[in-house]
Amino acid sequence: MSTPVTGKGPYDPQNIFARILRGEIPCKTVFENEWVLAFYDIAPKAPVHVLIIPRNPYVSFMDFSTAPAEEIAGVMQAAGEIARTLGLEENGYRIITNAGTDSGQEVPHFHLHLLGGKALPAFPL
Ligand code: 5GP
Repeated sequence: MSTPVTGKGPYDPQNIFARILRGEIPCKTVFENEWVLAFYDIAPKAPVHVLIIPRNPYVSFMDFSTAPAEEIAGVMQAAGEIARTLGLEENGYRIITNAGTDSGQEVPHFHLHLLGGKALPAFPL
């Protein structure tokens, strides 16, 4: 496990998700559109564990939360569409994001974790 990141800038264009976005590192793509790329987590914490990342360079929710409303909507609507497409609406799912050191965020590119496929443990995860 790598060291948690601060969740603040400057954005590191060499982070692993930036490299995935540029196609330098492979991923198992689940969905993509103008706003997001979504792919399976390499170390899944649930039967379904998808990472949803914006195409634009946000470090964490701290800066993503100030993005244009159209982009925030695009990312959240993509998350809902992915959950529907993966058949998670019947039994439900969880979406979380880690932001900064106390959360344990490891990759400094904003991402949503979409978790489902089983009854998830109550918080804390
Ligand atoms: P964080 O702790 O930053 O919220 O979550 C980072 C997630 O990225 C972790 O769940 C970790 O397993 C996943 N991850 C790290 N490196 C890679 C990678 O190279 N490919 C994929 N698909 N997932 C990764």
